[in-house]
Order: sequence, then structure tokens, then C-alpha cells
Amino acid sequence: MERPSQLAMGGTAAIAAITAGVLFALGRIAWCKCGSPVPWSFDTWSMHNSQHILDPYVLSHLLHGVIFYGALHVLDRRRADVAWLIALVIEAGWEILENTPLIINRYRESTASLDYTGDSVANSMADLAACGVGYLIARRLPWWGSVLLFFALELLSLWWIRDSLTLNVIMLISPVEAIKQWQVG
Ligand SMILES: [Zn+2]
Repeated sequence: MERPSQLAMGGTAAIAAITAGVLFALGRIAWCKCGSPVPWSFDTWSMHNSQHILDPYVLSHLLHGVIFYGALHVLDRRRADVAWLIALVIEAGWEILENTPLIINRYRESTASLDYTGDSVANSMADLAACGVGYLIARRLPWWGSVLLFFALELLSLWWIRDSLTLNVIMLISPVEAIKQWQVG
């Protein structure tokens, strides 16, 4: 791949800055309330979940990028910078939506995330970055490599935290009680 264009770099910086600004405006905090500078939090059942930089949900966000590349790869071959920015805008839009009261409450009611009160801004920025990394990985892989990566990360996520991108989508759209029981069990 050639060097990223000025449009791609400037656009990336602008999307990250605007997303952070909107999240702060929505009342999200910059970092975990606990104040610990440890950059990761692997216990999804703690107050630290989605408040530090790295947590198990990074796997889901990597997969967002893989999926976006799958959807945008035709455009990516013609205008790599435009395709990249579209992917980031969608992810940024999701990060913002995910941190509106509507979605936060839906997560709390119907998914594993009982104490979920929205991501910290640092965590949202890391999620956005993970999506970008997933996109760039998918760009280098053959299509079947991306498919394998998808299933590998989903299984890893299910094993690790009893949650995954697929389950997340199912539970957000149409919660299944049996899945919830398994997740809290
Ligand atoms: Zn913390």
C-alpha cells in the first residue's frame, strides 16, 4: 500500500477529535473513575470495564474494521483514503450512539453489561483505533483469511468473556433470555 494521503491523515485526526469532543459533550469521562493509570482492564464484570484503554471488547472492534473492509474493499482499491475514512466515520458514529442514554440503557437491561454506564473517552478512542487496525489487517489478508480471523476472534471472545460481536448484536436487537443466563452464570 502506498503512503497514506494527506486527506486520509487529516481526516483521521479530524474524526478522532470530533468524536472525542462529542463524547465529552455527552458527559462521558476521560478515564476510569478509579484513576489507576493501568492501561488495560480484563475483568468485564468490574467498574473498570470499557473505562481503560485495552479490554476484551477490543476484539469486537477489530472485527468492526474487518467487516468494514469487507464492505468497502471495492471502493478501497479505487480510493483507499475515502474508503478508510468512511469506515472510521461509521465506527465513530457507532461509538457516539453507543454512548447515548438510549443504547446505554438498552445494554444495561438486556446484555451482560449490568454496570455499564458508557465508555470512557479514552476507551472509545482505543475502540476507534482498534477498528482502524482491523481494517488494515483485513486489507492485507486474503478474503478467507479475514473470514478465519472473524471466527477465531469471535470464539476467543466467547471463551474469554462469554460475549462477542455476534452475541452483542443479537442481544441489542432481540435479547434472548437463555444467552443472558449463560452470560451471567
Ligand atoms: Zn479503573
